[in-house]
Amino acid sequence: MTNQAAKPFPWADQWPEIVDPRVRAAFAAVSRRAFIEEHLARFAEQDAPLPIGEGQTISQPFVVALMVQALHLQPGDKVLEIGAGSGFQTAILCELTATEGGVRGATIYGVERHAGLLARAADVLASLGYAPHLRVGDGAAGWTEAAPFDAIIASAVAPHVPRPLWEQLGEGGRMILPVGQHEDDQQLWLVRKLDGQMRVEKLGGVRFVPLISPLFDDPEQWAEE
Ligand code: SAH
Repeated sequence: MTNQAAKPFPWADQWPEIVDPRVRAAFAAVSRRAFIEEHLARFAEQDAPLPIGEGQTISQPFVVALMVQALHLQPGDKVLEIGAGSGFQTAILCELTATEGGVRGATIYGVERHAGLLARAADVLASLGYAPHLRVGDGAAGWTEAAPFDAIIASAVAPHVPRPLWEQLGEGGRMILPVGQHEDDQQLWLVRKLDGQMRVEKLGGVRFVPLISPLFDDPEQWAEE
């Protein structure tokens, strides 16, 4: 089922960098309108971040597109999402991993630390026919019972790659996350696990809200290249 209310992909012409037709199709199928508050409706189709409450923001759609494109998601891939927020990106992940005749979201695991945000996201996602696994918690700790993951995506900036996430990434897996010790010095990292080794590709500067986790107080919990 695609979202019948969705307007045609409003950003397509402005995104020459997004070449993967499956990513373009996913953005055409998911309208941002359902995930934001009524008074922000007129901004739904602007390619800009938007507030979602609790001091958090939905990422700029272009940045979400770049991140998911870098993960090369295939139908059936198991994906861990950290910072599900409004659920908009979760819906995109559900579209990209959907299998023929399968439940959309069956292989998506979303973690969010704000219970209120997650409750709203869960309602909206269900109303659109998506059924990802969602839970409130510290996403930096991952989701042990569901590991290993083919891909991991974090929508909040971490000072280091959290060790639990590295350990829960399967061989050949891809993880994308903003990394930086300062608010105005963040880089998007694409981390791959190849023969158990960490390969990092830095994809450029970004600006995200912080990933809040006690795990970063313990250097034992940082995974290094
Ligand atoms: N992908 C979201 C963007 C949300 S902004 C969307 O499409 O709307 C980043 C989110 O990360 C916020 O909702 C914030 O509450 C959440 N967050 C921050 N630290 C976290 C942590 N340790 N675990 C899980 N979620 C976290």
